[in-house]
Amino acid sequence: MMRKKIVAGNWKMNKTPSETVELIKALKPLVKNDEVDVVFCTPFVSLVSAIEAAKGSDIAIGAQNMYYEESGAYTGEVAPNMLTEIGVQYVVIGHSERRAYFSETDETVNKKVLKAIEHKLIPIVCVGETLEQREQGITVDLVRLQTKIALKNVSKEDAMKMVIAYEPIWAIGTGKTATSQQAEEVCAAIRQVVSEIYDQETAQAVRIQYGGSVKSANAKELFSMPNIDGGLVGGASLTTDFGNIVNYK
Ligand code: PEP
Repeated sequence: MMRKKIVAGNWKMNKTPSETVELIKALKPLVKNDEVDVVFCTPFVSLVSAIEAAKGSDIAIGAQNMYYEESGAYTGEVAPNMLTEIGVQYVVIGHSERRAYFSETDETVNKKVLKAIEHKLIPIVCVGETLEQREQGITVDLVRLQTKIALKNVSKEDAMKMVIAYEPIWAIGTGKTATSQQAEEVCAAIRQVVSEIYDQETAQAVRIQYGGSVKSANAKELFSMPNIDGGLVGGASLTTDFGNIVNYK
């Protein structure tokens, strides 16, 4: 089975609504590629502008977070139906910055995954180790556990549609990229744990991205690995280099 590649830009806390329109206008002609799903994950307040600006292209829009309740007294949070109503299709869940600065845990990640699926949003679930954990040799154990908890109570059908992003924390925003071998080893381990939870069919369908200082100079090598189905891109997603990453071949 051929998995379609997926390249997503994580804009983080960058770009106002008007800047979003400008950037999408510039990137639109550069990110055309029928063989790759392209997603722009913008800040909440820029989502409406992003969806408008992306019209007439194949660019899908994603949020960078959401809450796991339907509505209510959760000041400052955003509910899933607020995202779907405006046309958001993807949502990043459990990015390492949210785990580090906003106290997200494997358990809240799982709640958000389940709620996103309930609303037909495609979760892009982030997992990955710190440098200390890598040096201790516990990367695969840790990422297996993060993946298992994220997928708790997720059905096989829903798991097959999900995206998992392996993002070694030491490679995010540092200019340090995992070698293609390091990235492949962990992405293969994630696919292995998905096959243990479900079966081979599910493991072969789920898309697993690599994230951590992806740029056009390393995208081809990374995305050519058998278990790497594209990338989650931070810094470079705000530049025209993102077009070269999408067209990595
Ligand atoms: C990210 O934020 O998901 C990321 C991978 O960032 P960068 O590409 O800047 O390392």
